Amino acid sequence: MDPFLRKEKRLTSSCPIEARKGALEVLLALCDAGHTTYFAGGCVRDRLLSAAPTEYDIATAAKPEEIRKIFPKAKSVGEAFGVMLVRQNNIIYDVATFRTDGEYKDHRHPTNVTFTDAEHDAQRRDFTINGLFEDPVDEKVIDFVGGQDDLDARIIRAIGDPHQRFADDHLRMLRAVRFAANFSFSIEAETADAIRKHAPHLSGVSKERIGGELRRMFTHQNRGVAAWELQYLGLDVQILGEKSILTAPTRVGRLPATADFPTALAAWIIDRHTSEADLQTIARQWRDHLLLSNREYTALQEILTLHTTLSAWETLGIAKKKRLASADRFPSTLAILQAEDRPMFVFVKQAIAKLLKTGLAPNPLVTGDDLIAIGIPSTPAIGTILEGVYDAQLEGGISTKEEALALSRLIASDILGDKGP
Ligand code: ATP
Ligand code: MG
Repeated sequence: MDPFLRKEKRLTSSCPIEARKGALEVLLALCDAGHTTYFAGGCVRDRLLSAAPTEYDIATAAKPEEIRKIFPKAKSVGEAFGVMLVRQNNIIYDVATFRTDGEYKDHRHPTNVTFTDAEHDAQRRDFTINGLFEDPVDEKVIDFVGGQDDLDARIIRAIGDPHQRFADDHLRMLRAVRFAANFSFSIEAETADAIRKHAPHLSGVSKERIGGELRRMFTHQNRGVAAWELQYLGLDVQILGEKSILTAPTRVGRLPATADFPTALAAWIIDRHTSEADLQTIARQWRDHLLLSNREYTALQEILTLHTTLSAWETLGIAKKKRLASADRFPSTLAILQAEDRPMFVFVKQAIAKLLKTGLAPNPLVTGDDLIAIGIPSTPAIGTILEGVYDAQLEGGISTKEEALALSRLIASDILGDKGP
């Protein structure tokens, strides 16, 4: 997707065949009108990597007004930048006129663009593997930047002078790490040096974009490599607002492939900070730096809290263990334990299997209404009584409603004295 269009609501297809078919129809219409037109960027790269793209960007010699002649309903989203949206079979495609970028003022966007040919359009793209075109009519890849060689050698290399390219647009530094990690490519030495040099800046890149890039890295199974690269290149300082840390992010790296974003963030926080650190305060800082959603932040907080409780597993009573093991986010916490201490993980798993036999979260034997029915006044004390009775139930001390009611009376007279039943 073109960088100018991020905020647009997109209609995409999850079907690679449908996506390619619509893209071919758009491309052929432009070619038939005499305009050189190619597929460009990520979709070409992904096909060469044997992935089936579901997003096609189309680059053309046609100017915006010429695109509109062929597709009268084309929507302009930055016509000055030569980018139009064309709807075909209910899928929206970026159709962008070949262009070169003018000067960059905010380290993110060029102030103007000039329409040009395919070769110059390739030069403005970020990495050689992203600078390829495909001519699907002649079934050719058009490579002005050595992208095919770098794909074969599995290298991320900036197009042109890497220092200039990262100085112009700081987001490219995070994209380099994402592509390197997700594809298991290495970052070419000069490109990596330039990232390290420009890493302290990252200005011009919104927190939303930084969070978005990290989310894409951390929901991929190669997230451990991404975390390591971010630290090694010094990008962790700006994205997290913390000092540089070079300890290996082993928990992040050993999480199961399907771990979600909050789990991966929790693992990284624990990897980066000693046990004495106040992890909740750090989580709040990360929320602010990465613009986490409320749902992500709440999950992150819960995973960290459960992790702290879990690290004292052997000191917990049966009721506490059962409450812990039945918490919503316990599977995430267990995944982190598996990554940090496998023998302990196996031990806890076996202990939970035993606890399961008497139920981890059985339905409570009594409810608040039951307590009121036997004359316990409806005060906040009811919550405490219910909790005590449920603990006894989890511990296996009581197993019938009668026993639960008897225990409720006892606890009530303990805490309420004369005001009890
Ligand atoms: P993915 O969609 O998987 O993130 P992609 O390479 O398709 O990968 P997009 O953001 O969709 O990335 O961008 C499409 C193409 O636009 C890229 O392949 C690249 O050629 C170009 N491009 C995107 N962002 C930049 C940028 N910041 N600087 C230069 N070129 C860019
Ligand atoms: Mg893309």
